[in-house]
Amino acid sequence: MVKSEFDVIIVGAGIVGAVLACALRDSGLNLALVEPHPVEPPSERLDTRIYAISPGSAALLANIGVWKTLDQRRICPVYAMDVRGDQGAEIVLDAYQAGVPQLAWILEGNRIQYGLWQAMQNQANLTLISGAKGEGLCWSEPSTSSRRAKLTLDDGRQLSADLVVAADGRASWVRAQAGIEARREDYQQSGVVANFACEHPHRNMARQWFREDGILAWLPLPDRAISMVWSTSDAHTQALLAATPEQLAEQVAQAGRNSLGQLHTLTPAAAFPLSILRVSPIVAPGLALVGDAAHGVHPLSGQGVNLGLRDVAELVKVLKQRGAAHCGDLGLLQRYARARRGDIVTTQTVTDGLHHLFHDQNPVLRHLRNVGMDVAGRIGPLKSWLVRQSLV
Ligand SMILES: Cc1cc2nc3c(=O)[nH]c(=O)nc-3n(C[C@H](O)[C@H](O)[C@H](O)COP(=O)(O)OP(=O)(O)OC[C@H]3O[C@@H](n4cnc5c(N)ncnc54)[C@H](O)[C@@H]3O)c2cc1C
Repeated sequence: MVKSEFDVIIVGAGIVGAVLACALRDSGLNLALVEPHPVEPPSERLDTRIYAISPGSAALLANIGVWKTLDQRRICPVYAMDVRGDQGAEIVLDAYQAGVPQLAWILEGNRIQYGLWQAMQNQANLTLISGAKGEGLCWSEPSTSSRRAKLTLDDGRQLSADLVVAADGRASWVRAQAGIEARREDYQQSGVVANFACEHPHRNMARQWFREDGILAWLPLPDRAISMVWSTSDAHTQALLAATPEQLAEQVAQAGRNSLGQLHTLTPAAAFPLSILRVSPIVAPGLALVGDAAHGVHPLSGQGVNLGLRDVAELVKVLKQRGAAHCGDLGLLQRYARARRGDIVTTQTVTDGLHHLFHDQNPVLRHLRNVGMDVAGRIGPLKSWLVRQSLV
């Protein structure tokens, strides 16, 4: 019979929830993780969801023993990043010049997810409940700082814990049950993703163009292939989704100034609507929010998962250092919320600011943003600072 009493219940086994479960392996806490969709082994095909993983996130995956289980032939290090403005301005960030081995790693989402799923199978302090989702959630003793959560699953099972962690993504069901406000601002854009084989070698360089029709990013993949994220208007998104594979490859190659020669579509285009999501507070007695449940950012800097994994690192630290405190204690959880606030606000402000700066068609602003980019590209210390920002 499955246990029903836990210290912590994590709801959602996306990358963020699964890494949290693995990172709490030696915490002495009794864990449950609830996920409606069991993770299947990946096929040989390239996944549509590709992530730029920062060295900090890669180190976390290594610490929990998952990095070494991933097929290293399918991971691509990024040695340089070339960012272009819409009037020819350019910044090149280079790992060698910055004195670091690489700026980031490019990985397929389903392979990270499966590696984590495998790692969780034999974790002694974890009960993995897949194929079920939450149907009811309430907390006892609402007026005290140490209350117990009761989670009812859609198959009728009842679980209880001192702490529930919402890792159930942007449309978090847990967040809604707790009555926590989430302010969503739609960018009226989607992120169109697809993978391509390219004629010329990419030399492990990520490329990004701030264009009139949106922000186009090419991330290097192993074997002379790239992954595209084109953040663009809803009308342009529909046109890209309706294009044949040949038309799509041609349009994407042209938009990237044919810098890698001809492209050939490997995986068809898919689109994700873009918005910024501001959530406050991210803790309550017996509740903590992590990952996209706690914040949504524009994908232009590829920071969504990385930001969520920095939540995980902080929450794990706080829970491991809890001493005699109950792990749903509000004072304890507020230490997590305070530590995360600066990073979340900064990442949201910078990505939102860049989106608006480059979305605006005012000619004066267009000139200024390109001058700013050129200046940043020429000043060594400023470039080093930009590299360090991409490394956390
Ligand atoms: C176009 C695009 C490109 C991106 N590129 C990058 C990138 O290069 N690098 C990067 O770091 N980020 C990137 N992101 C952001 C990234 O995809 C998200 O930040 C990340 O997936 C969030 O992970 P998560 O685990 O918090 O949530 P999710 O991945 O949304 O996982 C939530 C999990 O919760 C489960 N769940 C949902 N409801 C329930 C429920 N009621 N009960 C139980 N479980 C539930 C779901 O099944 C799922 O497994 C990109 C986003 C977009 C849109």
